[in-house]
Amino acid sequence: MFADLHLHTAFSDGTYSPEELVAAAAHNHLSAISLTDHDTVEGGVPTAAACARHGIEFISGTELTAEQGENEVHILGYGIDLNNQRFLAETERFQQARQDRIWRIVALLNERKIPLKAETVFELANCRAPGRPHVARALVQAGICSSLDEAFERFLKKHRFAWVPKAKVSVAEAVNLIHGAGGLAVLAHPALNRVDHLIPGMVAEGLDGIECYHTKHSPSVTEYYLGMAAQLNLLATGGSDCHGMNKGRPLIGTIKLPYAAVERLKARLAERRPHAAAPA
Ligand code: AMP
Ligand code: ZN
Ligand code: FE
Ligand code: FE
Repeated sequence: MFADLHLHTAFSDGTYSPEELVAAAAHNHLSAISLTDHDTVEGGVPTAAACARHGIEFISGTELTAEQGENEVHILGYGIDLNNQRFLAETERFQQARQDRIWRIVALLNERKIPLKAETVFELANCRAPGRPHVARALVQAGICSSLDEAFERFLKKHRFAWVPKAKVSVAEAVNLIHGAGGLAVLAHPALNRVDHLIPGMVAEGLDGIECYHTKHSPSVTEYYLGMAAQLNLLATGGSDCHGMNKGRPLIGTIKLPYAAVERLKARLAERRPHAAAPA
C-alpha cells in the first residue's frame, strides 16, 4: 500500500479539480492521499468526498509559505481541523496577500507596456490563493508569451522586472498555526530550499517531520533525509507535489510513499490529540 501526501488542485496553483485529482490517485492505486494546496484548506471537503467515493483514505493538509531568516521554506500541515477558526482566519490573510501580489505584479508588467489586466488573471485563476503560475498562464493565453517558462524567464522570476516577493510568516508562526489547528508540521522538499543547516532550529520550534520522498529528491537525497529523520526522531513523509497538467505531465504516481509512514503520522496525531483517541 502506498500514499502521496503532497498534492495540489485548482484551489491553489494546480490544474486538477478535486474529483480529477482523486480519479488520478485511484488510477495510480494510491491508498491514501493528502491535499496540500498553498495557504488554503478550501479544497479539503470536496477532496474528502471524492476520496470517500473512490475508497481512498483522505488526510487533511496544507502547504504554508514561510521563511527562516532570508530563506523561503514551505511547511506542510497534516491532520488539520478544517473548521479551526483561527487557522481559517490566518490563511484568509495569506490568500489576501497572494491576491494583492497579483495586482502588484500586473502593475509592474503594465509599467513596461505589457498589456495584461489583473482581472484576466483572477478570472483564469478562479481561486482565492493565486500565484505566479496563474500570471504565467494568463500571459500565454494573451499571446504575450509562448510558454510558462518564457513568462518566468522574461518577467516573473527573481531579479526580473515583474518579480514581487511573496508574503511569508516565520516558521515558528506556521508551526504554531498548524499545531493550533490540531495538525503536524512537516518541512516540505528540504533539498529544493537548501536549508539543512536550519533544520535543528525548526525542530526546536516544534517541527514534527521532514518530507523525505519528493519528485525532486534523488534516491540518495531521500536516503539522506530518511537518516536525518530517524536520527532526530522526526516523521518521514513524502509526495509528488503534483500540480496537475501545470508542468507538462501530472506527477501523481511518481512517488509511492510506503503506507507505514501514514500509520506513523496518524499515531503521532493521536498522541497529540488524546481526547480524539479516547472512547466516547
Ligand atoms: P509563487 O508561489 O507565486 O511564487 O510561484 C511558485 C510556483 O511557480 C511554483 O509552483 C513553481 O513550480 C512555479 N514555477 C517557478 N518557475 C517556473 C517556471 N520557469 N516555469 C513554470 N513554473 C514555474
Ligand atoms: Zn504550487
Ligand atoms: Fe512547495
Ligand atoms: Fe507543493
